[in-house]
Amino acid sequence: MPTIDLLQSIFEMTQGATMLKAGRMGRPHFRHFKLLDDLTRLQWDSPRKDKGESSVAIQQIQELVKGQKTKVFQDNPIPEYESLSFSLIYKCGTLSRSLDIVCKDRTEFDCWTVGLEALLDGFSDTVAVKDFGKSKCLDVTDGKTTKLSLEYGLVGQTVSVREDACDVYTWGSSYKGMLGHGEETEEVTPRVVEALLGRDVRQISCGAEHMLAVTSSGELFSWGCGRGGKLGHGDIQDRFTPFKVRAFSNEKVICISCHELHSAAVTAEGSLYLWGRAEAYLGFETNERKQTLPKKISSLQNVALVACGQDFTMALTTNNMLYSFGFNDRGQLGLGDAKVRWSPTLVESLSDVKIKHVSCGTSHAGIVTDTGDVWMWGSNDCGQLTMQETTDFTKPFLVPSSYWNEVICSISCGKRHTAVLSVSGTVYCFGDGRNGQLGVHLKQQSQMLPTPSSVPINCPAKIIEVDCGAAHTAALSDEGHLYIWGKGSSARLGHGDHRDRTIPLAIDAMVYKKVKRISCGEKMTAACVIRAWVQDQETKNCMACKLKFTTVRRRHHCRKCGGIFCANCSAKRIPILEIGYSEAVRVCDRCYNTLSGDNC
Ligand SMILES: [Zn+2]
Ligand SMILES: [Zn+2]
Repeated sequence: MPTIDLLQSIFEMTQGATMLKAGRMGRPHFRHFKLLDDLTRLQWDSPRKDKGESSVAIQQIQELVKGQKTKVFQDNPIPEYESLSFSLIYKCGTLSRSLDIVCKDRTEFDCWTVGLEALLDGFSDTVAVKDFGKSKCLDVTDGKTTKLSLEYGLVGQTVSVREDACDVYTWGSSYKGMLGHGEETEEVTPRVVEALLGRDVRQISCGAEHMLAVTSSGELFSWGCGRGGKLGHGDIQDRFTPFKVRAFSNEKVICISCHELHSAAVTAEGSLYLWGRAEAYLGFETNERKQTLPKKISSLQNVALVACGQDFTMALTTNNMLYSFGFNDRGQLGLGDAKVRWSPTLVESLSDVKIKHVSCGTSHAGIVTDTGDVWMWGSNDCGQLTMQETTDFTKPFLVPSSYWNEVICSISCGKRHTAVLSVSGTVYCFGDGRNGQLGVHLKQQSQMLPTPSSVPINCPAKIIEVDCGAAHTAALSDEGHLYIWGKGSSARLGHGDHRDRTIPLAIDAMVYKKVKRISCGEKMTAACVIRAWVQDQETKNCMACKLKFTTVRRRHHCRKCGGIFCANCSAKRIPILEIGYSEAVRVCDRCYNTLSGDNC
């Protein structure tokens, strides 16, 4: 019986991948390689051929050689990527030829070498591969990646560089290194997380003292306080910079969430994993006090998304069933009582509505349906459920649409406040407003506002995302503008000080940048920002040696981090495969060290 790893590899090969092909005549080119579904032939695009493609039969292949040992590689070496290179020696008539390939990372290298070796050993179980493909119930192919491969295939000579890849910026309290900068210093304005540069982070989740990030290729990173094992690295150590969660090296993560004590991830196969301090909110009974590695919740399949509250968890399946588990003293599980649940329990009262969006706050929660209705439940001590009476609601209720008279598309629950967003781009806030987190001026006497109030955001574009932290709120526009308001202590607003802001304010440092995603934690904030070169006017000194630029000492951009450096500090050149540079390009010394060291 073939192993899952092997099936996964062969399946991935039949889906195809864009890799660098070394050429007999000089320059290497990106080509799209694909194993045909009958597993007999490897095919790649070849613009110079009439058919537009070339192929080699698996039977023709005599040997797989790892590294850059063939004549083609010897003539045109790419030494920085030696460990990610392999050659296939094959027979062409009486001649022996080689197909010489460089992978973009370790995962891709392992996938193709493992798969090819099995094929050379005679593996030919097309049925098992097909079944494996079918078992992947969710199609998670990132549209961007597919498009990119096509671009590579079509462009032939030139290489297009991925233009919407995201870097991560964090700011606020850095307790236990949770900002990921390698130190415990508070950041009063957004600072890029250097360890994640070039990783293309697509989603980020802030808890109270740790963070999770997932990349476009489905890799999960975590950092910050390790208490209770919530980082998922198998121990309780704190991590001051992002570390890859090894438990997912063979699986793609597509959704993440975390809160103060626990973390959760959903994989492309629809499996739900949880880890952290071991209590009911992990979804299984245990005598242990901590779960330091991600644990699969086998009672739930086909999970589409997960949301973590302070001491409870909600999971939505692809067939639209909402499950909750964890503590329930405020009715936060939405099950009509206050009993703890140690395993996923169906929220029956919502089984007839089609849920589009789920959010968990500290001890309240809400959903948005496909028709734009909002249902909420849990604690209401500050009016965070829109209700005047401050009693808890153990059962989901439909929030009267007369509050907004328009279709709602998403909801975010904070500690004691809530924000909802309409399809037209209006943000409504309600609940606790003591620190300005509702974005509207309140009289001192009434610091709670159970009636939703539209937030005046002075933005030239449409708001498309809103996120609540413990006591602050952020909103994003479809053109990447970021606005943030609420409690200012620990510098969590990123405005350069510790003052509360009662109305939405754009962060100066982000004005030139396009923000793609935002996550507000307890005392910190994180954003995915489209990678852009640092603007010339933004820096007067080299970002490495700090010497002033002059007419003689000129500015140069590092092609990887986009920073500006003097010629001395950016003298080295290297190809950067993950963002599409197949030829050596200018990089700063720090990026050079990262690229030439660890490529995986
Ligand atoms: Zn310099
Ligand atoms: Zn650089």
